[in-house]
Amino acid sequence: MAVLTKKELDIFIRAFHYIKDNAVIGYSLALLLLVPAAFFYNNYRINIKYGEAIDEITRQKAVLVEDVLNKYAYEKINDREDLQETVSRIKLDNYEILSLSILKQKEGQAAYEVIASSNQETVGTEVSESNQIIFAQKNKEGIAQLDEAAGSRFWRVTKAIRGGDENELVGFLEMSLSLAEPDATMNEAISLSYKVLAIVVLVLVLIMANQIRLLEIALSLNRLMEVDKMKDMFISMASHELRAPLTAIKGYLELLREKDNLNLDDESSRYLDNIVASSHRLEHLVEDMLEVSRLEGNRFPLEFSDFDPDPLIKQSVEEMRSQAIKKGLALEYIPYPLPATVRADTSRVKQVVVNLIGNALKYTEKGSVKVTTAVKKDTFLITVADTGIGISSEEQANLFQKFYRVKNEKTRDISGTGLGLWITMETVRRMKGKITVESIEGVGSHFTINLPLVKK
Ligand code: ADP
Repeated sequence: MAVLTKKELDIFIRAFHYIKDNAVIGYSLALLLLVPAAFFYNNYRINIKYGEAIDEITRQKAVLVEDVLNKYAYEKINDREDLQETVSRIKLDNYEILSLSILKQKEGQAAYEVIASSNQETVGTEVSESNQIIFAQKNKEGIAQLDEAAGSRFWRVTKAIRGGDENELVGFLEMSLSLAEPDATMNEAISLSYKVLAIVVLVLVLIMANQIRLLEIALSLNRLMEVDKMKDMFISMASHELRAPLTAIKGYLELLREKDNLNLDDESSRYLDNIVASSHRLEHLVEDMLEVSRLEGNRFPLEFSDFDPDPLIKQSVEEMRSQAIKKGLALEYIPYPLPATVRADTSRVKQVVVNLIGNALKYTEKGSVKVTTAVKKDTFLITVADTGIGISSEEQANLFQKFYRVKNEKTRDISGTGLGLWITMETVRRMKGKITVESIEGVGSHFTINLPLVKK
């Protein structure tokens, strides 16, 4: 007895679970079995019913021909020539008739002579009493038997030739009627239906293959989403964990700098400045990573309120003034002259304005940074314009992508994460606003935020 190996059994169990967990595949498989089964059953029913009907019709036809011939044959039983001519004519006119013979009983004997036949070679030969003849003798209707020769089915019908007042028996009519034509039609219909079935099964298999592919795509998408979630979790966890030691480092650095009796030589003092600068950069990176993880994990609560943005922007500009002075850049604020109210999160608006001013100062060597506000239709516009290095139109298209930084001669020595503009864009978008950029390389850049204005 063939037993499944462990490996085969394992494959079988896994396939079973796969189908069980994915109902769509189960339905398709069931369809793949049910459709052909229904087809076969239908064919089988039609075959049987149609076959029976055709057989019966053909049999009745044979019996009818013999009925018609019977009276004539009785009258002409002694006129062999006439009978032969009639038999030949009937055979000629009816292609389904394979053979037609008239037998006459030999006087006083249980034997018969062929006196007319569609097969003229048999005329004059003797035929002994067969079962068919014995039955036909007893049965008024005659006897019909289904037979087969050379792969074709036919009816063999035998009927006694009787007549006169005494209903005397003078001989037998024997006829074979072919079923080849209805059988061929039937076979043709069946083979056509099998072709249709093959096409249906093929279509089903293709649909299934497609479903499996879609399922695989869905599964890999699920896996990708899981990996993405893990990445978010990792960023969130790593930035949180980094923040604590970083705060400690910064705190101790401040303490160290404030110490009066440190007595550092110039070189050591430069080292300390570098450590402080690096710790600031590290802090910036960790803060950006935390913001990214909050935004991606939808842990970014916003507190909306209606407020006049002017004091807040003024405050942001002032916060950045020392940086501007350090770089020798002019920092100017030109506010919209009329009062205006926006609906947004105050701290987040301040954060994005500071971020844009920070970038403008960072990417400008000489000239100025101007912050202007305006009202256009139902939006409030905050524009930060600089006379800095500018951004080419190709780079502008990628600017708001995560981690994207312009890489060229002028930006080579400027450090950054490439996260600031993405965070700004996402924050503004969540406040139902928009950020746009206009810039000419070597001339300067204008970053504009528009926020929904509250109509009074
Ligand atoms: P980064 O930390 O690199 O500044 P951002 O997301 O803030 O990251 O900015 C992405 C890139 O866009 C920067 O690397 C810089 O090349 C360019 N960029 C941003 N602001 C300006 C600006 N005001 N002028 C010129 N280039 C800018």
